[in-house]
Amino acid sequence: MPFDLGEKFRRFAYEEGANLCAFLNSKKIAASNFILDLQNLPASLSYLEKTLEKRRDIRKWHPTSKSVMICAWQYWNGKMKYPESLGGARNVNSFFARNSRKPPRDCLMDYLRKRNISFKIARYAFCHDYHKTIRRKLEKVLGRIQETCLNAKGKIFVDTSPVAEKVIGLLAGLGWLGKNGLLINKKLGSYFLIGGISLNLDISGFAEEYENLCADCNLCLEHCPTKALKGDGRVSFEKCLSYWTTQAKEKIPLEIKSKSGGWLYGCDICQEVCPYNKNLDATLDPELMPKF
Ligand code: SF4
Ligand code: SF4
Repeated sequence: MPFDLGEKFRRFAYEEGANLCAFLNSKKIAASNFILDLQNLPASLSYLEKTLEKRRDIRKWHPTSKSVMICAWQYWNGKMKYPESLGGARNVNSFFARNSRKPPRDCLMDYLRKRNISFKIARYAFCHDYHKTIRRKLEKVLGRIQETCLNAKGKIFVDTSPVAEKVIGLLAGLGWLGKNGLLINKKLGSYFLIGGISLNLDISGFAEEYENLCADCNLCLEHCPTKALKGDGRVSFEKCLSYWTTQAKEKIPLEIKSKSGGWLYGCDICQEVCPYNKNLDATLDPELMPKF
């Protein structure tokens, strides 16, 4: 498949507001030495173990997959003011309902209220639920790909499918795996969301892995209040505030509540301190801007 077709498809993604877009040959995912850290997984994440084979090889999820298009949408930049955004979400339950999100956990809210600790919300949660927004955008991209190549078929993934999105992003050159466990791009930092399309077309040749630029920085490790970062890009989910406040179904342990520092939904500490998230000037798609 010629290169310019990939360039054309990338343009479709940029026209849907994506800040980054890259392609990866599907075989490369299975050939990588990606290992999902399954040690000490909490019960709410046991599905990761059950879907491991598909995550290791996208062709087990989408049998006709030949290449994967992976895109990133920035949701925060240096012009945005966190206190102002947080102020817009003051009435937290109705704010979450308006943005189609499940409400923050009552037990943590009660804990913080009783101690007069102000709430904080992770930046990605200021916009409408991105799963729907990004899926809609990728559906439009796939529609345009199919208008261009009549035999094109694709399967979209946005966070909830058994697809190793972060590994694909890494291998396709969207960024490197930071010590904070997130993909980091030199220009965009890590405040971006990813999603993509597995395609039955052979589009490759763009992949170029990023050099890891964390070097001797350890700021995220030093600032994580629960010491959830292992130092090699892996996260101990059972310690991470983001896991406990957005994914866990189990009761939040008192030790985690006492270290939450007010983070009621998600936690941005290991991104706030990252030097690559300073002075970001990326343009945001209006649909991924905070909605109050
Ligand atoms: S999200 Fe918060 S708790 Fe989790 S690793 Fe980052 S700083 Fe630590
Ligand atoms: S804070 Fe430093 S070590 Fe952590 S992800 Fe950012 S650059 Fe890497």
